Amino acid sequence: MALRKAALSRKSRAAVKARVKNNEITIDDVLALAKSDPFIAKMKVSELLESIPGVGKIRAAGMMERFGISATRRIQGLGVKQTADLVTEFAGKSEPLSRGKLIVLSGPGGVGKSTVAIRLREVSDFWVSVSATTRSPRVGEIEGVDYYFFSDERFDQGISTDEFLEWASFAGARYGTPRKGVEEALVQGRNVLLEIEVEGAFQVKAHSKEAILVFLQPPSWEHLVARLEARGSDTPERRAHRLELAQNEMAAAKEFDLVFVNDEVENVVARLVSLATH
Ligand code: 5GP
Repeated sequence: MALRKAALSRKSRAAVKARVKNNEITIDDVLALAKSDPFIAKMKVSELLESIPGVGKIRAAGMMERFGISATRRIQGLGVKQTADLVTEFAGKSEPLSRGKLIVLSGPGGVGKSTVAIRLREVSDFWVSVSATTRSPRVGEIEGVDYYFFSDERFDQGISTDEFLEWASFAGARYGTPRKGVEEALVQGRNVLLEIEVEGAFQVKAHSKEAILVFLQPPSWEHLVARLEARGSDTPERRAHRLELAQNEMAAAKEFDLVFVNDEVENVVARLVSLATH
């Protein structure tokens, strides 16, 4: 557990440093991020400064000395004055934030999209959208983490107030992507992942040409059937219906920008990260 935490922490720090290096985010952004992200809060100030373009070890050390910041200080330990000094030092020197990339991950139910999305959220700084749905929670699902579980009335209200970027009916329930969080994250320069079914993916593309549609394909049809059958929470009728739906969804692959085969979760995650950074 501790090891895993350390690995996660290294990865999230590495992602932030890479973005500072590429002028995608400023020191102010990192300091703001540190308020909500304990991994970033524990980053050494020297590590952050050295990742800023044009600031090497020597300049970083000199600056820290000038502002009375000890060499081993972590972001969470910075004083108010020290923070202000650092922000002023770099004010106006960075490029404006570029908009994040919008990646839509779709594919047949049971292909493993949500596993990919969860892993991506763990190892990168992607903002992964949480959808609203009218279906009932499965065992272990948490409100606000897996979905926002809406009543039919609440979902109707969301449609009438244009709350959704897209929405679709699937297997007897409705699913929608709340628009607000997606737009806010993109404006902040964060890459965004929507994990949704194919109808919704096409709606997103129709509105935002910037969206990149990725279709996640199972290694084989048999593989997908086995996964759907293993889903204990569905009734036999519902499972049969899901298989039929999956067959239709598979046919949509050719209309996507890219098709990734879900051979290994880690491979798919790496390809999504690389897609967002290139
Ligand atoms: P499940 O009920 O298995 O969680 O999801 C069923 C399907 O709905 C999956 O294919 C999932 O990707 C899709 N889905 C989840 N959230 C959304 C959403 O916000 N919009 C659309 N269009 N599909 C979604």
